[in-house]
Amino acid sequence: MTAVVFEIDQAHAMADQKVPGHNRWHPDIPVAVEVNPGDEFRVECREWTDAQIGNNDSANDVRDVNLDKCHMLSGPVGVNGAEPGDLLIVDILDLGPVPLEEGPAPGQGWGYTGVFARNNGGGFLTDYFPDSLKAIWDLHGQQATSRHLPGVRYTGITHPGLFGTAPSADLLGRWNDRERALIATEPQRVPPLALPPNEKDALAGTLAAGSPEFVKVAQEGARTVPGRENGGNQDIKNFSRGSRVYVPVWVEGAKLSVGDLHFSQADGEITFCGAIEMGGFIDFGVDLIKGGMEAYGVTTNPVFLPGNVEPRYSEFMSFVGVSVDHDTNTNYYMDATIAYRRACLNAVEYLKKFGYSGEQAYLILGSAPIEGRISGIVDIPNACCTMYVPTGIFDFDVRPSADGPERVARGACAVTS
Ligand code: ZN
Repeated sequence: MTAVVFEIDQAHAMADQKVPGHNRWHPDIPVAVEVNPGDEFRVECREWTDAQIGNNDSANDVRDVNLDKCHMLSGPVGVNGAEPGDLLIVDILDLGPVPLEEGPAPGQGWGYTGVFARNNGGGFLTDYFPDSLKAIWDLHGQQATSRHLPGVRYTGITHPGLFGTAPSADLLGRWNDRERALIATEPQRVPPLALPPNEKDALAGTLAAGSPEFVKVAQEGARTVPGRENGGNQDIKNFSRGSRVYVPVWVEGAKLSVGDLHFSQADGEITFCGAIEMGGFIDFGVDLIKGGMEAYGVTTNPVFLPGNVEPRYSEFMSFVGVSVDHDTNTNYYMDATIAYRRACLNAVEYLKKFGYSGEQAYLILGSAPIEGRISGIVDIPNACCTMYVPTGIFDFDVRPSADGPERVARGACAVTS
């Protein structure tokens, strides 16, 4: 029997839970619960914005989302006996949306994919899609459909977007130093190059707001957006059920935290809020490899064995991009980011021929179980990236033929008013 060691009542905000979680990385956030190596246990999660997004047909809530609150994490879970230098074995045994509940919080029978506005988060194609967008997904067991994206039904690749261990004070200091240095190269950039610590709306578990301990966490705590040496928001879709992840331990007890559960997501999560976002539950098993960081040379990022439960798609329509801006005929040298962006834009243009808006195509390409690959990284000057879209996610034939594309009206996604 798997015990629930971190409980969530989806009717209440994270700050109002019996034991609140947190939304910054800091070594001084107290352990919420202790487990032992070898234990298996359940952690319940809020959706990453703490349910600021509603099941409706307007993207105004995505446009106005307060990102200072994000990500809402459950934990920290203290693992007895864990010490700096160990590898924490994290088995992802199971996860899913909120069981047997319908309601207004994401994960209660539904989820959403969002596109942030350029001036509040942005995304991979923000130069082409600067406004907020949203698609609501209804969850049917393993499958998802959206009233905003007719013609699409797929099996999700369910995984946590974010889990990791707490940083040491030294590691946290290094994060803040290097990210501040990056921000200083272009401090006025929109969207920003990185997010520095921000006291506003910080949540630090059981530390009382205003206490000296809380203020220290709020002033120093790292934001949760990027993946780092502790794991964190890596958004790796293959952390699906059955995966085993080896995470560096930086503090006594490891302090494992988790959130940002995804019903599905494409490689790259290109819209930034591009998964099917949900609250729900995750079942972990944990164990330790004492001294594993040094023994295996795993000192800057986790390693993992991908999950063994995935959608069974075998045929893909694949889009190619190279590191060229075709609009200005500018060549970039071996830039895989530019190449992948081109692959995405090529996929958007293709799907528009079947009646989707570019906005709808963007939402599909962020959330479906799509494979993104670096196909060539040596053929100067053009990096080559590819985006593999499963043909089976569409209820029409998406492959090219002499008959031409089946262009029909395909509704609209949620936009702002
Ligand atoms: Zn997410």
